[in-house]
Formats: sequence, C-alpha cells, structure tokens
Amino acid sequence: MNILVINCGSSSLKFQLINSDTEAVLAKGLCERIGIDGRLVYQPAGKEKEITEAAMPTHKEAIQMVLDALMNAKTGVIKSLDEVGAVGHRVVHGGEKFASSTVITAEVMKAVEECNDLAPLHNPANIIGIEACKALMPNTPMVAVFDTAFHQTMPEEAYIYGIPYKYYEQYKVRRYGFHGTSHSFVSKRTAEYLGKPLESLKTIVCHLGNGSSICAVNGGKSVDTSMGLTPLEGVMMGTRSGNIDPAIMEFIAKKENLDIDAIMNILNKESGVYGVSGLSSDFRDLENAAEEGNAKAKLAREAFCYQVAKIVGGYAAAMNGVDAIVFTAGVGENDGIVRKEVCKYLGYLGVQYDEASSSVRGKEATLSTSDSKVKVLLIPTNEELAIARETLLLVTK
Ligand code: AMP
Repeated sequence: MNILVINCGSSSLKFQLINSDTEAVLAKGLCERIGIDGRLVYQPAGKEKEITEAAMPTHKEAIQMVLDALMNAKTGVIKSLDEVGAVGHRVVHGGEKFASSTVITAEVMKAVEECNDLAPLHNPANIIGIEACKALMPNTPMVAVFDTAFHQTMPEEAYIYGIPYKYYEQYKVRRYGFHGTSHSFVSKRTAEYLGKPLESLKTIVCHLGNGSSICAVNGGKSVDTSMGLTPLEGVMMGTRSGNIDPAIMEFIAKKENLDIDAIMNILNKESGVYGVSGLSSDFRDLENAAEEGNAKAKLAREAFCYQVAKIVGGYAAAMNGVDAIVFTAGVGENDGIVRKEVCKYLGYLGVQYDEASSSVRGKEATLSTSDSKVKVLLIPTNEELAIARETLLLVTK
C-alpha cells in the first residue's frame, strides 16, 4: 500500500509518499508560502527536484498541487488517487486525550480541536491539512499521529509542575512533551540495533535539531522528557530559550516595556543558540564562527552541550541507571563535536566516548568504546516512516 504522509504547518506542508511494503520513499517535497503566494518543491525518488511557483491561497490548493504532481504523466509516481491507500497526518498536540495514534473520525477531529488552545500555532494548521485532504480524498482512510502521544506514559511526578494544582485541573497545564514519534522510533530501533528486548532497556534519546528534546525511555515507555506544556521548555535550541528562570520574563518586560506577546516572541524566535551567539541558529555556522575565534558562537555551543548533559545526567538518576544514550536529528546525527562535548560530562556514568567516531554522520553507529559501560549510539530518526508504519497498522487492523 502507498501511504501519503502529511506534516502541515501554518504556511507550509511537507509530504512523502511511502510504499509500505518496501518502505521506499516514492516521492517527497514541500509546499511553502501557503496563503502568501505559493511554491511547490517536488522530488520523485532518484530524480531531480522540481520547483513550481503557483498560487496556493489555502492548504487545499497546496494539497491539490501535491496530488497533481504525484500523478503527473512525466514525473509522477502514481496513475490515480486509488493508489494512495491511506494518509497519515502528523498532529502536534493530542493533550491527554490521545495516548496513541488513531483513525480520524468526526469525533477525533472534535477532540483534536479541543487541544487547540494547548498548541495554538500548530494544531489549527494540522486540522486545516486534514480537512483539505478529506475534501480531496473523501474515501481514503486517514490517521492522526500525535507528537505528544508517546509521552502519555510519564508518571504524575514527572509531568506535574510546581504551580497550583488547580491549573492542571482547570486547564490541563502539565508537561506533555513533543517529538514523541521520533523518540518512539529511535528507542525501538536502539533495542533492535543492540539485539536486546525493548522492555529490558533504559535509554536516553537526545533528539537534537533545530528544536531539541531529550527523553528518558524505560522499558520502551517514555518516563520523562525535556519539552513541556509547549516545545519551549528544555535545553536551549536554535531560537528557543529552553529553561530559564520564569522571573526573567517580568524583569525584561519591565526594563524594556514589553507585553507578554513580545516576550514570548523573544523566547521562541530570538533566543537559544541564535540569541546567545547573535549570529545563527545553525550549528554549522556556529562551529565555523567558533573556529574563527567568535567567542559568543563558542559559548552558545558550549552552553548547549552543557545543558544537554545536565538533562541526560538527570534522566540517568530518574531511571536509576542508563544502558544507552542515543543521538538523533540534524545536530545529533551530524555534529560529532556536540556529541563528544556532551559525552565529556558523562564519564561518571560509565560513558567512554570513542574519539574516532566524531566524524560519523547520518548512519547507525556505536559511538562509545567497546569497554564503555553505557553504550553511546547514533540512530537516525525517520518521523515520516514512523507515521507511515503507524498509519498502516491502524488502517489494516
Ligand atoms: P532538524 O531540526 O533535525 O532538521 O535539524 C536541523 C539542524 O541540524 C540545523 O539547523 C543545523 O543546525 C543542524 N545540522 C544539520 N546538518 C549539520 C551538520 N552537517 N553539522 C552540524 N549541524 C548540522
């Protein structure tokens, strides 16, 4: 069966068409600037990228363009929409309502809408994407795969914040965590890679990308994770602050006469390694600048590694041990210096990092020495494949 995986943002849409028998990507791409002007980047497997500028007033036109590209006589990979067996949608927030992926029904849509206030930037866009797909493919089964679902196994002491309990009762303010599809995929693959039962392993997954989150996985279940009610919490990221003293918000607001929206914009878009370096959110730019002697770029990278290591150490304590520390996502899969610097702090856990592994990129590998008590691994994430697998499972049940 071919499965179309859709990841909708407010003005963008990423897609992959995956053959679930072979797990091969038949075509992939993205629509950008939806609602502004519109641009489709389409890439059939093994062929050149095609870029088409065309009006996309809404997500519906964008999805129509994607479907047309997939069926194009010259560069398409399917002849008709009958060859799309199911659509898997990434949905950011499932609140406490969804502990697993689900086939989309009218009731599910209502429940997803009820989670909108928990992710006002993301969930409405996900819903628009689902509605647009349903309008164009009314008879194709659709599945929602939630970023938060994997973390619903966290115990109460891990998800409750130290604020009045009534805010949890009234508004469901608690830790939810994100990147769940990635943490689940990578922790499962870790067990396969090590040839050990998932139930026997204590794993810490470091998903380090433009957004970063770390997850403690005990016996295949998420027991803690660094992102919280929103993806702003945790380690500093590309442009997000991560953990700060909450009183900083009031302090800066008063000093600079800013309202809460302006403060949130600073914490989401002008902070993290970008904010500290004043240069870039991209770790490659920071590495190059640090090498040329830029002290702030060096500091941003060092502070990032330090914060990651502190959380990893905390999760080893939370699980009373750790068997494997796993790096994944853009920075985790590519930046050997970040991996090495993080591991430098973890010697007391029994981590012996193999210096020679720093050049390994984007493929499964062991990064620790053979006598390291804790395994350090690189396991590339693949959220689209994980969504396609979940979708197949649910539509063939
Ligand atoms: P992601 O959000 O997982 O797509 O990761 C994106 C981030 O990965 C980029 O912003 C870069 O900072 C980082 N990245 C990608 N490739 C490399 C690389 N070769 N070396 C260092 N960092 C990289």
